[in-house]
Amino acid sequence: MAGCASPFAAQVKSAGFALSPSGDEEEEALSRLRSAGDRMTTPRRLLVRCLFEASGHRTAEELAAEIQTYAPDVSISTVYRNLEELERLGVVVHLHLGHGPATYHLATEAHGHLVCRKCEIQVEIADGFFADLRRRAIADFGFAIDPRHFAVIGLCATCQADAEDLGDSTAG
Ligand SMILES: [Zn+2]
Ligand SMILES: [Zn+2]
Ligand SMILES: [Zn+2]
Repeated sequence: MAGCASPFAAQVKSAGFALSPSGDEEEEALSRLRSAGDRMTTPRRLLVRCLFEASGHRTAEELAAEIQTYAPDVSISTVYRNLEELERLGVVVHLHLGHGPATYHLATEAHGHLVCRKCEIQVEIADGFFADLRRRAIADFGFAIDPRHFAVIGLCATCQADAEDLGDSTAG
């Protein structure tokens, strides 16, 4: 998988909500880990630092590359193991933006995504966006959905307009 960059890294559009973790939140996460009896190993501390320093979605490989600039001997399997552990402790979540590898971010930054299947632009949407869908899934099926785990795939406004220009639309 070397040299295989995430196809979804380039374009992100944020729909009017802030994703800027503070130093306080980083301290809080670290103390939560400590009180869970966690061994704060160097790789894990670096991983938490990387996750807090830049928001956004990174694959395990991208996070490993960042960590390796500080600690070259940290292996990708160590990063995977630590991500799993941080996820179990509720600090990190992973999600799937498309066909590529899973991406990781802080649990406090969890949000939904719309991804265009044509130009691959990502639109980040606040969690409340899925509130009605969530209620209906419970009411109709008794099913508790997690709409943040996978992106909702479709066509963005620009790509819909392009399709109409080509006479590709069924609408008119
Ligand atoms: Zn998953
Ligand atoms: Zn598009
Ligand atoms: Zn996002």
